[in-house]
Amino acid sequence: MIDSHCHLDDARFDDDLEQVLDHAKSRGVDQFIVAGVHHRRWHKQQEIQQQHEGVLNAFGVHPWFCHEHQAEHLNMLESLLPDAVAIGECGLDFCTSRPDQNIQKECFRVHLEWAKKTGLPLIIHSVRAHETMFMMLRDYPSLHGVIHGFVGSLEQAQSFLRLGFLIGLGTRILNPHAKKIQKLVSQLPLNAIVLESDAPDGLPKGARNEPANICQVSQYIANLRNQDERIIVAACNKNTEELFL
Ligand SMILES: [Zn+2]
Repeated sequence: MIDSHCHLDDARFDDDLEQVLDHAKSRGVDQFIVAGVHHRRWHKQQEIQQQHEGVLNAFGVHPWFCHEHQAEHLNMLESLLPDAVAIGECGLDFCTSRPDQNIQKECFRVHLEWAKKTGLPLIIHSVRAHETMFMMLRDYPSLHGVIHGFVGSLEQAQSFLRLGFLIGLGTRILNPHAKKIQKLVSQLPLNAIVLESDAPDGLPKGARNEPANICQVSQYIANLRNQDERIIVAACNKNTEELFL
């Protein structure tokens, strides 16, 4: 299985990354796409990839940190992209505590331009910003990628699909209160979804998440859709491979 979105470079994995990856592999999760968040961590991502099997990198600036990046940092991205399977994690987050929306849009547009130039898929974070996201993506009809940790309506999910973007589903759907997204999971076509942990995030009360937990997500999706889990896993792997590998 492929975890299409995790942050193995997070400090919460510093002490036991080898065990975390061994645990994932014992559960059948053997490939890990690490989404970049900050220029200060890009080098660490490269080191992790060299030291551990099955690790693939995406590079980008998370919208939460766009104000900590100048043009020189964004230019650094270019030199990293030949070794990347995707561009991201990038996007828009319009929660009130986040950086200025114009700075976010400017930073995101740089990622869109790189994606257009390189043909690489995008890993997108879109929170309370879907309408603006649609508008920006419509300017780039050739692009494709994933809306990671999607929260929204069926109509919004379908709009993203039409724009060439898959829907990333993770451990947050396991939350008994996440009724809306659970309903959506049973309505989406199987060729529209990919599995992700977003580890170490994605679990309630700040508990540390791990890539191994995507097994629970596939099981849960299988139950919701009343389908064999193997069918879900095969479809999600195929979708992820076609998009990134
Ligand atoms: Zn993430």
